[in-house]
Amino acid sequence: RPIVVWLRDDLRLDDNPALAEAAGTGRPVVPLYVLDDETDGVRGIGGAHRWWLHHSLAALTQSLKGIGADLVLRRGKAAVEVPAIVRSVGAGALLFNRRYDEAGRAVDQAVADALEGDVAVRAFTANILHRPERVTTKTGGYYKVYTPFWKNVSETEPRNPIDPPRSLAIPDELPRSDTLDSWQLRPTQPDWSGGLASFWEIGEAAAHRRFTAFCDERLGTYDDGRDRMAIDATSRMSPHLRWGEISPYRLWHAAIARAAEDETIRPEAIQTFRKELVWRDFSYHLLYHFGPLGTENFNARFDQFPWETDRSVLRAWQKGMTGYPIVDAGMRQLWQTGWMHNRVRMIVGSFLTKDLLIDWREGEAWFWDTLVDGDVASNNAQWQWIAGSGADAQPFFRIFNPITQSEKFDPDGAYIRQYVPELNDLPARVIHAPWTAAASTLHEAGVVLGKTYPAPIVDHGKARDRALAAYRSVQG
Ligand code: FAD
Repeated sequence: RPIVVWLRDDLRLDDNPALAEAAGTGRPVVPLYVLDDETDGVRGIGGAHRWWLHHSLAALTQSLKGIGADLVLRRGKAAVEVPAIVRSVGAGALLFNRRYDEAGRAVDQAVADALEGDVAVRAFTANILHRPERVTTKTGGYYKVYTPFWKNVSETEPRNPIDPPRSLAIPDELPRSDTLDSWQLRPTQPDWSGGLASFWEIGEAAAHRRFTAFCDERLGTYDDGRDRMAIDATSRMSPHLRWGEISPYRLWHAAIARAAEDETIRPEAIQTFRKELVWRDFSYHLLYHFGPLGTENFNARFDQFPWETDRSVLRAWQKGMTGYPIVDAGMRQLWQTGWMHNRVRMIVGSFLTKDLLIDWREGEAWFWDTLVDGDVASNNAQWQWIAGSGADAQPFFRIFNPITQSEKFDPDGAYIRQYVPELNDLPARVIHAPWTAAASTLHEAGVVLGKTYPAPIVDHGKARDRALAAYRSVQG
C-alpha cells in the first residue's frame, strides 16, 4: 500500500525524515501539500508568504519530478483533505514532520484520529534542533530565559542530517491535484513583488547555494559583522528555514564542517551562528509551552498596559514615515524586500512599542503580512521580547535609542541612504537625526523637513519618559 507524505513547512528533499522514511520502504509515495486557509484558529498566511509559497512549491514540484514523483496540491480544511487523500489512494501510512503551534497540532491530532485503526500515522522531528518537550529545567518545567536554555541544549549535539532520497516509487494512479496557478498566490494588481523577486532566490537549491556562499565569504566574520545593517553579513537563511527549504541540522553541521577545514573561521563566529539557530529553537520552545504566544501577553500584567490606538501613527510607522531615518529605512527595507535586518527589527520594534506606545500585536501582524520569513514562533517571541511583555522580562533596558543605534551600527549612513534616498545628500554626522542639522546643511542636501522627509513624529527623550511611566504602571 502507498504512503502519503504530508509536506508542510518542510518544502525540501534533503534531511526530510518523513520523506526519507517513506522512500526507504520502497513503497509508492504520494507527496501532498494542503493549503489550509479555512480551519478556524489556523492563522492564514500573509501577503509576502503567499508570494514565497508559490515559488517554493514550484521549486519543490520540480525537484520531486527529478526523483520520479509528483506533488499533489489540495486546498481546504486539512483535517478533511488529508484523510480523504489517504483513503482515496488506499495508503497504509501517513507520514509528516512535526509542527509546534497549538492550532497546527490540533489539526494533526484530528487527522490522526480520523485515520486511527487501519492507517499508521507517524510524525518526525525535522525543523527544530531540540524537541521542546525534551528540554526541561532541573525542576521539570520549561525555560523562559534564553541563556539557561542554551546552556542546557548545548550539551547535546544535534543528530546528523539525512541525505535526500535518490528516487521515489509512485502509485499507478495519482489523486487529482490542483494547479498551483489556480491558487493565485502571486499578487496581480498591483504587483508589488518586483523588489522581493530581485532580492531572493527561492527553493531548496537556492537555499543551499546561498548558504555555501555565506560559509565561503561571511561566516568567518559573522560575529563582528552581524549587527551592521549596511553590509550583507548574515546568512539570510530565515525564509528558507521558515518554509523548511533547508534543514537547521544541515546548517548546524555544515557550519562546523566548514570551520574544520578553514582555519580563518574563528570558533567565536561559529558559536555565535549556532546560538542564533538556537534562538529559533527557543522561540519554538516558548510557543510549544505557551500556546497563545502570538495573541496573549506572556506576562499577564501587560493586559493592563495603556497602549495608544492612533491609526495614523501606526500607518506612519508601517510606511516608513516616522521622521527617524533608521526606523524608516528598516520599514522600507521590509516593504521592498520582505525582510529586515535583525538589529533594525529590534530598533523598529522598540520604536513602535516604546516611542509610539502601540501594542506589539499590531507590529507582529504587520510583520506577519510583509515578511517572507514571518514565523509562527520567532515573530511572536521576538515581538513579546522587544515589547517587554515576554517571558524574559527586562523591559526597562530595552528602550532603544534610534539615534545612537543608528550612529553605532550604520555609522556612515549607507543603509539609510539605500532605503531613504531623499536623505542621500546629508552628511553622515546629521543623517541619523536630520532635524539637528543646520538650515544650510539641509538646504544643500535638498531636504525640507515636513515636506521632502517627515519631521520626527515624536521626541525620543519625551517618548522615553512616557514609556517608562507606562511600564511602571503595570509593574506593580
Ligand atoms: P542570521 O543572523 O544569519 O541567523 C541565522 C538564523 O538564526 C536565522 O535565519 C534565524 O532562523 C535564526 N535567528 C537569528 N536571530 C534570531 C532571533 N532573534 N530569533 C529567532 N531566530 C533567530 N526571525 C524569523 O525567522 N521570523 C520572524 O518572523 C522573525 N520576526 C522577528 C521580529 C522581531 C521584532 C525581531 C526583533 C526579530 C525577528 N526575527 C524573526 C529574528 C531575526 O531578526 C531573523 O531571524 C534574522 O534577522 C534573519 O536573518 P538571517 O537569516 O540573515 O539571520
